[in-house]
Parts: sequence; C-alpha cells; structure tokens
Amino acid sequence: MKEFDVIERFFAQQSHQRKDVLLGIGDDCAVTSVPEGQNLATTTDTLIAGVHFPHDTPAEAIAHKALAVNLSDLAAMGAEPAWFSLALSLPEVDENWLEGFSRSLFDLSQYYSIQLIGGDTVQGPLSITVTAQGFIPQDQALRRSGASPGDLLYVTGNLGDAGAGLDISKGELSVSENCETYLVNRLNYPAPRLLAGTALRRIASSCIDISDGLAKDVMHILKQSDCGAKIFVEKLPLSIALKEAVDIEEAYRYALSSGDDYELLFTVSEEQKGNLDIALANANINATCIGQLNGVKQKLELRLNDEAYSLQRSGFEHFN
Ligand code: ADP
Ligand code: MG
Repeated sequence: MKEFDVIERFFAQQSHQRKDVLLGIGDDCAVTSVPEGQNLATTTDTLIAGVHFPHDTPAEAIAHKALAVNLSDLAAMGAEPAWFSLALSLPEVDENWLEGFSRSLFDLSQYYSIQLIGGDTVQGPLSITVTAQGFIPQDQALRRSGASPGDLLYVTGNLGDAGAGLDISKGELSVSENCETYLVNRLNYPAPRLLAGTALRRIASSCIDISDGLAKDVMHILKQSDCGAKIFVEKLPLSIALKEAVDIEEAYRYALSSGDDYELLFTVSEEQKGNLDIALANANINATCIGQLNGVKQKLELRLNDEAYSLQRSGFEHFN
C-alpha cells in the first residue's frame, strides 16, 4: 500500500465535514475561514513511541492521546476546536494498526466537531504530530500570565490517576483489576476539558493544562504571573480508584508530581468566585479549590494539615 492509498483509505474518508473548511485533504494546502470576531488559537504536540508512550500501547490509545493532548491545549486557552492536521511517521503500513488508529481518531474528532484537514505521511520510527486549531472570541484567551496574589487556585477532575496508570503499565505497580482498568484508561484515554475551558472565559484569571504534573505546571502560572502559591495537599482531588490502589502519601505524590492527567489548573479572583460557582454548576463541571496565590514571587509552598510538606522522597527532579 502506497502513501496515497493510506491517506485515501484511512484518513480522507471521514464523515464529519465542517462548513468553515473550504478545502480539506487532497490539495497542497487546506483552506479554511475564521468567523468574524474570533481569534485563531494554534497548538502542536508530538508523541514518539518509547518516549511519550510505551511501545506496546494500542493504536486506539495512541490516536486518542495524540489528538486529546492537543485538544487539552485548546481547552486550556478557552478555545473551541475547529481543525487539525496529522503528520504521521510509520515504520510500516500495518492495515490493522491503521484501522484502529483512524477509527479512534475520528471517534474523538467527531465528538468535538474538529475536522482533519491535512497532514503528511512518511516512513520512519513511529511518531505522531498533531496540530490543532480553534476559535476564541476576541481577547478572551485564558493565558498563564493573568493571575494575581489572592486569587484562588482550582483544578478540574482528579489528579494522579495517569501517573499510577503509567506505573501499572510499566509493571512497577500492581493493583486490583478494577483499579487497573480505570487508572490505565485515565492514562491512555485522557478527557480534554473543553467544556471547562470555554466556561472559564472571562472568569478565570489564568489557566494551564496539567501535562507534566501539578507541581511543575503550577510554576508556569507563578512565573508568568509573577506570583507565589500555597497548595493544601489534603485538598487535592483523588479518585476512589487511586485511593484504593495506593496509600494516601503515595496518592499525594502521584497527584503532585506525575504527568498526563490533562486536567485544567486555573485561578479565579475572589470577586469572580460567585460567577465561577454558577458556571461550573451550569456546565456540570467538577473543580476543586486546592490553594491560593500570594505575593511571594515564584515560590510554591506545599502544606499538609497545617504543616510544611515536601516532595523530597519522590524522585521528582523537575521542581524546586
Ligand atoms: P504534498 O506532497 O503536497 O505535501 P502529500 O502527498 O503529502 O502532498 O499529501 C496529499 C494530501 O493528503 C494533502 O492534502 C495532505 O494534507 C493530505 N495528507 C497527507 N497525509 C495525511 C494524513 N496523515 N492525514 C491527513 N491528511 C494527510
Ligand atoms: Mg507532503
């Protein structure tokens, strides 16, 4: 099967067609139109076999994750997904693999009405690069730089599941079958928080998605907003499965330091808290207040039940 046949059979024939795609797959470029009054947000992420996912990860999970991590970046900006392109490097043309990959890719893309409009297909080590684009109403992008001392720090969903899922898939953690299924799914099938992202427009003062771990990613907000923060470790939202799988200290460690959760971390001023509560309730979004920002510039303080808490034992090297 040649490059062109792969594109034609697995990628060109997708059911979802957006009106703003004037020209999709098949020409030298895709041509699209951005609605008036909207800004265009663009993001790219690459996943490489053996680096970003274990070699034995199912094709369905790889496709889901490759698109989901980009959707998560759009969510973190408050953008609404529109289009994506796919640069695929494949060691060989394995039709079974491509079948699972493309089915899963289009399941997720149709769910979020994001259309595949082009890409590139080459032979080489397995690697997937997705570039995704979305719309944000003029000047409403949720940046990392807007937080102020006093703002409350929130996170959507639960933290730490994906980190435990990774240790399970590496054979370094063994848990009950139910917990294993849940935690490994949280690693392989992250749910991008797009609804939360758009609900937070004009309410959150800053926002980021958690890809590298809470303690590391919060530092991006602290640096770009020139603030400090206190996080109350006992408030970290943990899933039932994670609490059942490991002891509480270990669960906190996963929640603080492991990546791949793709939840949103955001700040809200005290004045906006009422609007936040309404927006979260209206959209049925779970978010937990885990701390507060302060003026101690670019310093993160962790507290557990009113005592200083440190991550020393964790093999956690990113954070200082
Ligand atoms: P060119 O030689 O002009 O780069 P290609 O032969 O690489 O064109 O691609 C032909 C068409 O197929 C283009 O519209 C391109 O965007 C699209 N395409 C190539 N690979 C993929 C892919 N993996 N997914 C979606 N579209 C693709
Ligand atoms: Mg090309």
